[in-house]
Formats: sequence, C-alpha cells, structure tokens
Amino acid sequence: MSQNRAKIRCVTYGGPAGWFLRKTMSGLTSRLYLEAQYCLRKRLYKRYMKHFAQAEAQGTLLMPCLISIETINRCNSACEFCPANRNAETRPFCRMEEELFHKLIRELKELNYSGYLNLYVNNEPFMDTRIEEWYRYAREQLPFAKMLLYTNGTLLTLERFTKIIPCIDKMIINNYSDTLKLHKNICRLYKFVRDNKAYWDKDITIQIRYIREILTNRAGTAPNKRKKKRSRKICIMPFTDITVYPDGRAGICCNDALEKTNYGNLHEHTLLEIWDSGAYRQLRNALRFGREQYPFCRGCDFVDAGIRNQFIKEALCKRQRQPPENGWNSNCLNGYKTSTEENKTNDNTGKNS
Ligand code: SF4
Ligand code: SF4
Repeated sequence: MSQNRAKIRCVTYGGPAGWFLRKTMSGLTSRLYLEAQYCLRKRLYKRYMKHFAQAEAQGTLLMPCLISIETINRCNSACEFCPANRNAETRPFCRMEEELFHKLIRELKELNYSGYLNLYVNNEPFMDTRIEEWYRYAREQLPFAKMLLYTNGTLLTLERFTKIIPCIDKMIINNYSDTLKLHKNICRLYKFVRDNKAYWDKDITIQIRYIREILTNRAGTAPNKRKKKRSRKICIMPFTDITVYPDGRAGICCNDALEKTNYGNLHEHTLLEIWDSGAYRQLRNALRFGREQYPFCRGCDFVDAGIRNQFIKEALCKRQRQPPENGWNSNCLNGYKTSTEENKTNDNTGKNS
C-alpha cells in the first residue's frame, strides 16, 4: 500500500486546556479519567475474559497478547508518578543476562509467537546499550510478533533511532516535561521522520506528558499517589500480559514496579509453564471477580488507558475469523494445549506475594 503521508504524530491530550487541567487539578482529572476509561472498557474486558474461559474449556490456553521483558531496571527520568523514577528508585541494580534473553526468544520462536513484544517495563530501554541489538535479534527470530517500543526519548539520538527503527512496529515516545514543548532531540527526530519517506511506514507517536501528573496508584507504589482504596473492578492484565524482570522472575504486571511478586523464575521454567501455573490461574480466577479478591491487587486503581484495547479487539476479531480448535492452536490467537489437570492445580513455579 502506498503511503503519501508521514505517520509520525504528536499527541498533547487536549492541548493547552488539557495541560492546564492536568497541572492544576491533577488528582481530580486523573480520578475522572480512570472512571471514564473503566466504564468504556469494562464490557470489552468481560468479553475477553469470557472468550479466554471458553477457549480454556475447549482445552486451549490463550497466550498473552503482550510479553514485556525488562532488560535493565533503571531509568533516567524523574516522573513523579513512577516508583522507578531516578529519585525514588529502590531496586538493586540488575541487567538481564544475554543467555536468558536468548532462551526466552527461542521459546517464543518455538510457539510462533504472533502477539506483541516489549523490551521494557519500568525502565528506560535506551539505558541498556544492548537494546538495539536485542530488538534486532527478537525481530529476526520472531517474524510474526509485533515489536513495541516505549521510551522517554531523552537518549534517542538520530543514530540510535535509525538503528532500531527497522525492527520496530510501533514506537511511543513519551516526552515528559514541565512545559508543553518537545525536548530538542525529540523535535529533531519529529522533523527527521516527517521529512524522510523511508520511515513513513512506521507507526510512531510522540506523547507530550506532564512529568508531575497524578495518574494511578500503581498498586500503592506511586510516589505521588500511595493511597489504596478497596475496589471491585475487574482487571484484564493477567489475561493479556506477562511481565519479566531482569533477574528472570515473572511478576504480576507492570504495576509491580518494585518487583515484589514472583510467579516463577525463567531460569528454571518456561514462559508457558509460568503462564499455565496454578499461581497464575489463581490470579486470573480472582481478578475475574474483582481486585479485592487478590491480596496484591486489593486497592490498585490502575486502568489501562493505552493500547491493550487494541490487542484485545485484534484477538477477538481473529477468533471470529478462525475459531480455536482443541489442542495445539497455531492461529493468531496464540493458544496452546493446556497442561494436565495435575499441573494446573500443583503450582510449583513460584509464589506470589
Ligand atoms: S514513567 Fe517511564 S520514563 Fe518516567 S520514570 Fe518511570 S520508567 Fe522512567
Ligand atoms: S489489579 Fe493492579 S496490580 Fe493487580 S494485576 Fe491489575 S493492574 Fe496489576
């Protein structure tokens, strides 16, 4: 398909008026926004949970839509809502071993993984000097997967951009700032892509974000919003996501920014074993009925306002075109044959907190 326009876009969330609200009434704006997002998404979440349960009943466990691998647990930004910001950081420094990364990618290759892959969780991916090479490796090994990259853009030179972009399907640059302006290097990058047709097939979004914004409480860990309030809201995360920390542990989701949860170590288990483990199933079963059913999630007010809607819609849409079969299922639903009943009930992969 021919492209006649650059696809790079810059999003401000309501321009100067939205910016003013986020600066002066951040708490209220965030609460209203989260409620609105939840109302808009709840039905879709329920549909996906039902679809997940139906596939399970037919002997197919759907794979995650998004696998996030944190390769280094450090960030250079100071976003006040984020427990991983450079002023609030408490995690011991950790960088993923290359051998482990290759093992994970090999596992996904064997599964013909066709969901999204993110080499980032609560960190700045460009702080890892290996990131371009690791995306290249993942791109080569996983031709059906969609590569996502979120970055705060501060370390994004044109050289690093041109090296990594051939491997990326969707890039989101969060320009965190105190003012409604782009950082100089991001502005340069915007013009570079806009004027260079070679990158017009790439999906790149620059989001201008307020660095002191109040967002969600991140399960009680957000430095500027610690308060937890009991909630009956359902949560889709353990149906769509699996999150891997640099030391190889699989955690509950990206909101465990302090990396306290542990569903098993990928040095010892495969991703599938963990996704299919008793502990993970217990988590999914609990969150189907509301967050208060699960200790770590009780009081977490996170609602995804990002691209999970897109993943879920894509998965549901593919179901309509090609229904899952029993057993191994290599269609885009990314399902796989469920383990034995014994494995489902005996959780030996790890314990959650
Ligand atoms: S939100 Fe992202 S850029 Fe900001 S401190 Fe956290 S990890 Fe860093
Ligand atoms: S309720 Fe919060 S901590 Fe629990 S899975 Fe959902 S987003 Fe993660």
